[in-house]
Amino acid sequence: MKAYVIKAKKIVTVSKKGSIENGAMVVRFGKVREVGKWEMIKQQFADLEVIDCSNHIITPSLVDCHTHLLEYGPSTLYPVANATHFMAGNALLLQALLSGITAIGEQISGQPQGDFSIEDYREVVRSLPINVSFAATSISTYLKTITTNNSITKPKDIEKGDLTNPMLVFQLARESDYPGENLFINVPPANFIMKQGPKAGEFMYTISELKDIVKTFHTLNKKIGVHVAGEEGIRMALEANVDVLHHAHGITTELIILAAIQGTKIVATPLGGTHLPPNSPENIVELTVHNIPVSIATDAYLPPDPNVSWLPFQDQKLRGPEVLMEIAHPAMQLLKQQNFDENKILALLTANPAQILGKEKLFGSLAKGMDANFLVSEGIPGLEITDVNKIKAVYYKGEKVISRN
Ligand SMILES: [Zn+2]
Repeated sequence: MKAYVIKAKKIVTVSKKGSIENGAMVVRFGKVREVGKWEMIKQQFADLEVIDCSNHIITPSLVDCHTHLLEYGPSTLYPVANATHFMAGNALLLQALLSGITAIGEQISGQPQGDFSIEDYREVVRSLPINVSFAATSISTYLKTITTNNSITKPKDIEKGDLTNPMLVFQLARESDYPGENLFINVPPANFIMKQGPKAGEFMYTISELKDIVKTFHTLNKKIGVHVAGEEGIRMALEANVDVLHHAHGITTELIILAAIQGTKIVATPLGGTHLPPNSPENIVELTVHNIPVSIATDAYLPPDPNVSWLPFQDQKLRGPEVLMEIAHPAMQLLKQQNFDENKILALLTANPAQILGKEKLFGSLAKGMDANFLVSEGIPGLEITDVNKIKAVYYKGEKVISRN
């Protein structure tokens, strides 16, 4: 691929350079070679081809660090069988790219219908123009009874006691790329729709079991994340020294302060995902004010929580990557009202989730040496625009992968 300069009305770098009006970026070998003022770049790189986007804004492309697009998504959305499972999976990854997302953090929990190993998933995405990190997870769901699966023993169900089996925990830690929802501290609601039920929210681990599991992950130099909601569960996760809380619905101010002190990161899922009401815009602002680097994720595909006022959806249709900007919008606007810088606000959809994936030196901001993963849009994603059609182009490693022009 040839080197080029791309110029824009503004570049929101989400780096130390902040926002650059009349900015330009030099891309070479799929990497950002330079970002700066057009006036400076045009002199320094006079021989390069120029792509003129001066009516648009350039930002890093989006990162969704908590998804179920490849494992649960296909059979949830389409009546596929094993032979067609990954055709549907690829279609959902295309949905992510169409929504401006070029990196996802995918949960692999040994879904009972599928017959795939985590290696199969790795293989499928290897040549695609999207970056996928995998979290190996144990998931506990209930219908009539609690069923537990995990990515190691798939596709057979395991007993509750197996969740703490040191050999299984060791393998889970070894296979996990990043701290996704490796464990479910509480049982999620059945089908993620029915909130009520005898088991939703029930604890799956004791504090000493959790501490042992965290220790195993840390001994292998792996970070660990958990699915958790409610004061008691969150307190337990913090006491066990978990690195990332996914959802953290119902977190109190006291626990926010504790998380901030411990350096625990939080992935907010305003669409739903647990037995409690999801993260409100005010909750996301409070986390940010306490200097917790919050990531906003879809947990897609999920039905919107019907009981909250900040979501614009009128029905229970399953939502995917196309709503990432929409579900982040109320919190991002509230941060703007509180005078947060637009770079810090956009970090909730870019640099912060890249950090959860452990890939913050690769993507999530636009600075020299980073992958040239960026969007050309009519406004700042999530803050000024929520409609994916306003993303005019998506670039992955310097190459245009979505073109709406
Ligand atoms: Zn999830």
